[in-house]
Amino acid sequence: MKKAKRISKIPPYLFARIDKKKEEIRKQGIDIIDLGVGDPDMPTPNYILKKFHDASNDPKNHDYPPYNGTPDFRKAVADWYLKRFGVKLDPEKEVISLIGSKEGIAHIFFAFVDLGTPALIPNPCYPVYETATLLAGGLPVPIPLLEKNNFLPDIGKIPDKLAKMSSLMFVNYPNNPTGAVADKSFYKDVVSFAKKNDILLCSDLAYSDVTFDDYTAPSILEVKGAKDVAIEFNSLSKSYNMTGWRIGMAVGSKEAIAALSVIKTNIDSGAFKAIQEAAVEALSNEPYSTQKMNAVYSKRMDIFVKGLNELGWDLKKPKGTFYIWARVPAGQTSEEFVTDVLERTGVLVVPGSGYGKFGEGYFRVSITNKENRLREAVQRLKKAGIRFKEKK
Ligand SMILES: *Cc1c(COP(=O)(O)O)cnc(C)c1O
Repeated sequence: MKKAKRISKIPPYLFARIDKKKEEIRKQGIDIIDLGVGDPDMPTPNYILKKFHDASNDPKNHDYPPYNGTPDFRKAVADWYLKRFGVKLDPEKEVISLIGSKEGIAHIFFAFVDLGTPALIPNPCYPVYETATLLAGGLPVPIPLLEKNNFLPDIGKIPDKLAKMSSLMFVNYPNNPTGAVADKSFYKDVVSFAKKNDILLCSDLAYSDVTFDDYTAPSILEVKGAKDVAIEFNSLSKSYNMTGWRIGMAVGSKEAIAALSVIKTNIDSGAFKAIQEAAVEALSNEPYSTQKMNAVYSKRMDIFVKGLNELGWDLKKPKGTFYIWARVPAGQTSEEFVTDVLERTGVLVVPGSGYGKFGEGYFRVSITNKENRLREAVQRLKKAGIRFKEKK
């Protein structure tokens, strides 16, 4: 077969590789505690299921949906942005439905990146930013997220010439994989940077509503004038335990939404209308369901952070996401540590290097598993003698 060259540039998807290793260990009869993939383990709340049940029975929902989302869905997103962030959106021109935010994130590159165009991609990051740049023929330029900068990009270090050539930049807070958060003053700085260099600023806000204690995550669109240069991706996947439903949205710059729509109308035909109705129900309901889920995640975070700290780590509880990002002990690479832990304890965590070269030296724990399993994971690490050792 004469396969396209672009396919060969794409490394195997991180979790596909991990699944293979997991299967090997499972075959040895070891009980695996999976703290790998970040997929909510709790079911979609009942009020959403009920709405979907009714909506799916209605024949008016069985035909092709409108390309950019149903008017009800777009209005619900605009209403939610106003209530949640104080951001006004025109549901006609500044909101579009997505088949999960991953779909929109991948497709925005096809609207903004030409052959050889640089795209500014945080590193470590959600792998799709980099692979979608490659698929579009662009040049992913890694922007390091370093611990000493609280995992925020150092905009001042991006060379002027590179900034001028780049068409797009991604930011993602609350951040996967580091669990870091950003405040409005950071967003203000990147918005000015994007304006100065005529760059489309893409904010991935998938974890906007997975936050703990008193922390509330801002939207980049809260910054004055951000709508001129920014598009924001959000999703019902993480906040409402709806990963399998494939429903999300992009909001912000009219021009960027229109460009994304050109790509999408030629590739997909929108999200099932009954799913959009269920999403309207989720977004319109009081945030009671997200509060309840966050209380569960928060307690799990406490358990695992405390557990690792008893083994020599010095971690602070993340303010959002369901990830703990921690350094591997001195003398091991990320992959070596993760393989060692899996083989000796059956606890599966993810090597930081899978999220980019600046993730080397770290591992990611996802707390999407029950409390008793998290406690047991800590016990197993302890018994196996796994401890954090600082580099000398
Ligand atoms: C999970 C995730 C997404 C994609 O979620 P969808 O289910 O496609 O909406 C996007 N960005 C980040 C950082 C994620 O972790």
